[in-house]
Amino acid sequence: MKKMREWELDRINIRNLEVFGRHGVFPEENRLGQKFIINAMLYVPVREAGLKDDLTKSVHYGEVSHFMTNYMTEHTFGLIEAVAEQLAKAVLLRFPLLQQITLEISKPWAPIGLPLEAVSVEITRGWHLAYIAVGSNLGDKEAYIRQGIETLNGKEDCVVERVSELIVTKPYGVEEQPDFLNGMIELRTLLFPQELLDVLHQVEQEADRERNIRWGPRTLDLDIIFYDDCVVDEERLQIPHLDMENREFVLKPLAELAPYLRHPLNGKTVRRMLEELSVRG
Ligand code: ATP
Ligand code: MG
Ligand code: MG
Repeated sequence: MKKMREWELDRINIRNLEVFGRHGVFPEENRLGQKFIINAMLYVPVREAGLKDDLTKSVHYGEVSHFMTNYMTEHTFGLIEAVAEQLAKAVLLRFPLLQQITLEISKPWAPIGLPLEAVSVEITRGWHLAYIAVGSNLGDKEAYIRQGIETLNGKEDCVVERVSELIVTKPYGVEEQPDFLNGMIELRTLLFPQELLDVLHQVEQEADRERNIRWGPRTLDLDIIFYDDCVVDEERLQIPHLDMENREFVLKPLAELAPYLRHPLNGKTVRRMLEELSVRG
């Protein structure tokens, strides 16, 4: 396992915050309510706040505690899994300095007819950084790309951080088709890789994309190039993108945004992969 550096381990802990809520699958639970206990580990780099003694560089644990209490009283869910999932997302969206949260929701009065101390669900959720290659070679290419980026940025758990310059490139694979316009998007997201792929497919659909020939003409293509330093090898999703090293239209815009980013498997920087590709021709 990767060794964590000390600055990656900073966190603020909120222990045993009691909240009265109405979550549960039994009608009595929704009617009468019961006690819930929240434990939260807030992963936020506190170095600067600590050195400067400055709260604006950190996350205010009082505000987080009040926010979680209000959220848990204003919403009602059946499962504590749902409480944890929705609350983690709400906190991450509300406190931008927070990179990750480990949240445990426990139910000390779980009505199971046995003397248990508590039952709990614990999850860890956080922001991920993905690079998405974007391309179009049909219709108003730039408009399809700009609109696609806009739609993606409109999803609540996706934030488009930066977009490269768009470049005109010759078609790849199937050559008898119009030139492409290509670019790269740096995206911060709470979505898991497969969920991100589903969202990208939706955005492609909204751009009237018809999925017929691979590498054929399309209004909008959105491919995941990197997702943190994750490696995914599944039937419908491979990350890093398998053919990225051979594609100038991917490496060039990526080099503009992140030249020193390293491929998690071959260890090469984006800049190096681009140089090697131009030597190979
Ligand atoms: P290429 O992926 O070689 O650029 P393409 O973009 O033309 O080809 P699509 O028709 O857009 O191919 O997608 C075909 C399938 O590729 C998708 O349905 C998806 O399941 C799969 N796929 C695998 N890995 C990825 C990835 N990293 N990003 C996007 N799609 C992927
Ligand atoms: Mg593609
Ligand atoms: Mg694609």
